[in-house]
Amino acid sequence: MFSVYFHIPFCRKACHYCDFHFSTQLGSVEAMVEAMERELAVRAAGWQAMGSPGTVYFGGGTPSVLHPDHIARLLGAVRHHFPGGVWEEVTLEANPDDLTPERLAGWRAAGVDRLSVGVQTFDDALLGWMGRTHTGDAAAEAVRRAGEAGFKRMTLDLMYGLPGRDLAGWERDLERALALPVNHLSAYVLTVEPRTALGVRVARGLEREAPEAAVEAAYRHLCAETAARGWAHYEVSNFAPAGGEAVHNARYWEGVPYLGIGPGAHGFTGQIRYANRPNNPLYLKAIRSGDALPEDRETLTRTDRYNEQLMTGLRTARGIDLLALEAAFGMRPDRAEAAAWEAAVDRGEVTAGAKATPICELELELKEMFLQNTRQELSHTKQELKNVASTLMQAQDELYETKGSWSIFDFSW
Ligand code: SF4
Repeated sequence: MFSVYFHIPFCRKACHYCDFHFSTQLGSVEAMVEAMERELAVRAAGWQAMGSPGTVYFGGGTPSVLHPDHIARLLGAVRHHFPGGVWEEVTLEANPDDLTPERLAGWRAAGVDRLSVGVQTFDDALLGWMGRTHTGDAAAEAVRRAGEAGFKRMTLDLMYGLPGRDLAGWERDLERALALPVNHLSAYVLTVEPRTALGVRVARGLEREAPEAAVEAAYRHLCAETAARGWAHYEVSNFAPAGGEAVHNARYWEGVPYLGIGPGAHGFTGQIRYANRPNNPLYLKAIRSGDALPEDRETLTRTDRYNEQLMTGLRTARGIDLLALEAAFGMRPDRAEAAAWEAAVDRGEVTAGAKATPICELELELKEMFLQNTRQELSHTKQELKNVASTLMQAQDELYETKGSWSIFDFSW
């Protein structure tokens, strides 16, 4: 069993907080789809022994910038190389602006059966501050339109921990989201990434991150509000009523291999992780010339895989299956790290047989760990260098679009 992930590296506009890989140069969309078909053809032979994929996911970037014909072509390529399988879920990430009746009908006809809509907030002032291209009303209307077009499985991305936001504003966002025809929510704290416009403003002291207490209050409200509606908090950032859980994402957390396609895509064979370099011109050039795709590879050791299973298990309500871990790796944390395990049991963070700790407590701890690490890791100078590199990469993309040629700049970190 495995999954397929397509990274669609385009957005109509850069959101101020985002450090995902994307280009706003949409002139190479057609060439990119063709290149991704070719990458799939090259990689497929190594995956066919695993049968057919169970799920397909279009992430990005903004996959909804693709015309339904592009989606149909990419799904057709998956069917061609891995015939005979039945897909359990085909998800497309979409921005509200793209949810036109024509596109919705076209994506459904192509085989997409789940939409992940990037709403973030319904507050127009905050949407403007974030650099989003839609309004709150337009987003709500687009989601209703998608429901009317027959999408029964829909998730919204929401963001909390926005600077200057009070709890009442977040409560309004959540109420509005849960009144829409959706059966899943993913809610994330705004994190300030150094290679972004927001990161630069924070580094210069022009913006401040939301206080921890406000973030925590928003998260607790999210946990309580979804629980009151009978939704399961099945992963730290994901909530759904029974049957609404994301199949594709759950496979990641279970350690199922995934075939990643596109610049910036990551893949996992079960032993090896690879990451295509996040650079559109470099990717197109390599595919056109038949060169090996520039990628980073890492072979995971047994210990790496054991640690990953522990970490992903801790993120989910499913928890850690000690017997399965022992069968797969010959060790389990309650024996390998008995003292730490017992201390965690004493603190009420883990119990055998059931997950005793409310998952939101765990999220807050993980977030604190993350913040501490981030603060230690990044110096101002490095942030600034990354910002410069980001600008140069964008310039490089533009040069390629206008001149069809480019020079190689290496901005890996
Ligand atoms: S948040 Fe989404 S739409 Fe905005 S720039 Fe990032 S990938 Fe593109």
